[in-house]
Amino acid sequence: MREIIIIGSGPAGFTAAIYAARAGLQPLLLASSVEAGGDLMNTTEVENFPGFPEGIKGPELMMKLQEQAERFGTEVLLDDVTAVHLEGDVKTVETGYSGTFEARAVIFATGSAYRKLGLPDEERLSGRGVSWCATCDGFFFKAKTIAVVGGGDSAMEEATFLTRFAEKVYVVHRKDSLRASKIMQERAFTNEKIEFVWNAEVIGISGESAVESLSLRDTVTGETRELPVQGLFVAIGNDPRVHLVHGQLDLTVAGTIAVAGRSSKTNLEGVFAAGDVIDPHYRQAVTAAASGTVAALDAEEYLASLDQAAEALALVQAS
Ligand SMILES: Cc1cc2nc3c(=O)[nH]c(=O)nc-3n(C[C@H](O)[C@H](O)[C@H](O)COP(=O)(O)OP(=O)(O)OC[C@H]3O[C@@H](n4cnc5c(N)ncnc54)[C@H](O)[C@@H]3O)c2cc1C
Repeated sequence: MREIIIIGSGPAGFTAAIYAARAGLQPLLLASSVEAGGDLMNTTEVENFPGFPEGIKGPELMMKLQEQAERFGTEVLLDDVTAVHLEGDVKTVETGYSGTFEARAVIFATGSAYRKLGLPDEERLSGRGVSWCATCDGFFFKAKTIAVVGGGDSAMEEATFLTRFAEKVYVVHRKDSLRASKIMQERAFTNEKIEFVWNAEVIGISGESAVESLSLRDTVTGETRELPVQGLFVAIGNDPRVHLVHGQLDLTVAGTIAVAGRSSKTNLEGVFAAGDVIDPHYRQAVTAAASGTVAALDAEEYLASLDQAAEALALVQAS
């Protein structure tokens, strides 16, 4: 049986692994078969992760985190977790190809997925004008004309934030009114750089090597038109990857795994969670990494308490 299994290979998972490995717990990290490395594998330049003054490519940063985790004895398997059984002292983790593993503690660091528009060129132009994160990429759109798709609070927040950089921000929304809270709406309505495009859905993204324009369809009349922009921020929601733990771990109203206060402790003993899967708000690489640290320290403490309890019991039995 393993001491600890970490599920997920983003900044949260690898940072948890670095700490757990340095504590001598020889963690097994299940990294996923096709999505190993997490969200940052989909981005080019990461300019806000501390320690890299010149910036670093997302995949390179993830390779470095993996190397660092392996250097201290983390075993990394490129496999998908298909089921987990989390009740009781022994947790079992089933994988697609490598069989079933047992551990005394498990850390979930499975991240979350930005909802996509599902358009053919969305992936191709990701990191080339298409983005899901204004905090991450807003800086690259200085003096540009861009569009934000969505009508909720996060779309308004992204649009308002992006006016710090962009010359003009279109908010494209399928309806003629917003879902966003009154205060967020007001902020966007009074911002001179924001223009609303109502009753419109994006049906195409054009551009050879970067976004050049969007094809919009009027949801009332069906008419189509081109909107020239250099960037598209998709802000239509986010889904924490929690399907494995439904019915076992408590979730928040936002759909993230519920943890106690600032800790990583879930409702089950020995089960911890870290990174974007517990974070409905900040969702940054460095906050995920910090959260991975918390999970590893919580898990270490839990395992030490189990050892101490076992030692105390052995002493009682021996006396
Ligand atoms: C395009 C893009 C650009 C970004 N740019 C920046 C940036 O510049 N700066 C910044 O700070 N943040 C950026 N972010 C946000 C940042 O990537 C995330 O906040 C961060 O990656 C979250 O880390 P995480 O470890 O919680 O989850 P993730 O990075 O999402 O990693 C989760 C991991 O869990 C794995 N997993 C899920 N389910 C299973 C399973 N069943 N079995 C095995 N593995 C599983 C996934 O495959 C993945 O490897 C960006 C995000 C995107 C999408």
